[in-house]
Amino acid sequence: MIPRTGASWQQQLASAFNRVEELFDYLEIPQAQLPSACAASAGFPLRVPREFASRMEKGNPADPLLLQVLPRGEELIPHPRFTTDPLDEQQQSESSGLLQKYHGRMLFIATGTCAVHCRYCFRRHFPYTAAGTVRNQWTESMELLTRTPSIKEVILSGGDPLTLSDGRLSDLVRALDPISHVKRLRIHTRLPTLLPDRITGELIDLMNRGRMKPVLVLHINHPREISGNLPDALSALVNGGITLLNQSVLLRDVNNDPDTLCELSESMFSCGVLPYYLHMLDPVSGAQHFEVRENEAGKLIQDLRGRLPGYLVPRLARELPGADSKTILT
Ligand SMILES: *Cc1c(COP(=O)(O)O)cnc(C)c1O
Ligand code: SF4
Repeated sequence: MIPRTGASWQQQLASAFNRVEELFDYLEIPQAQLPSACAASAGFPLRVPREFASRMEKGNPADPLLLQVLPRGEELIPHPRFTTDPLDEQQQSESSGLLQKYHGRMLFIATGTCAVHCRYCFRRHFPYTAAGTVRNQWTESMELLTRTPSIKEVILSGGDPLTLSDGRLSDLVRALDPISHVKRLRIHTRLPTLLPDRITGELIDLMNRGRMKPVLVLHINHPREISGNLPDALSALVNGGITLLNQSVLLRDVNNDPDTLCELSESMFSCGVLPYYLHMLDPVSGAQHFEVRENEAGKLIQDLRGRLPGYLVPRLARELPGADSKTILT
């Protein structure tokens, strides 16, 4: 049995903080930062599930979980290297909800909705609702996948695909199943970390219902995100035969120090999750204050290699527009 916190995950999704004033009150943050936070949230609204906020330290405006979601005045300062569509994806994904950049793998933008608004999100300037594949487009996407035998793996992405109901996810899994050249189903999601209650027996069953062995790639940036009933939810996934990997984004003042990254890898491993990627920040405008330079990132990884077994060291990667894979930095 997976323990529950009370409200359904749908209720928790709907009751996320979306007003800066409310989050400031709840966390007892000094009001001086409020005007700039409000100004920054006008362009990309605040969105923080209460469960996630409950893991933050009250009265600490520099809390590493808070910094990931807190609108800040710095976001509004233009920077020549940081743009609205750093990966050049908007054009490609808007029309169909499918996005292929790499051989054999296709991103399926299953929905535009996310449970959280990460301030460093490279899709923060996307017209999210427009980008999500509406249901009547799914048929078209499935037809395209059927006609493209080179696609061996479908990656459900978004937005966050686990914001979809079990019914809709089940429809997707069912529709992919007869496409025999598709061998692997991957789901990129931050939801388990934000709303561990999303992990239910039904969800695990529906992921296993098809012919493919599912891989869940989580998004956890800091060891303090692993608390509450998340470890139990992760155990349930592991026991359900689901492979768990994690991708993090390297973020200044959040996780750019070796102790934090070591602890993150070790805590994840104890919950059955292996580190996959540590991403360099995508240069999206509004996120410049999170940047960690390449030489600092390289030193951090070197440090981790000296302290952890190889399988607990994530691959340090950068995404370059036009490249045929993510670029691994050494
Ligand atoms: C990151 C990404 C993938 C997956 O790449 P892997 O290296 O296989 O994890 C696939 N498609 C797109 C568009 C991506 O951005
Ligand atoms: S969970 Fe991922 S897609 Fe959603 S806002 Fe955060 S970074 Fe963006």
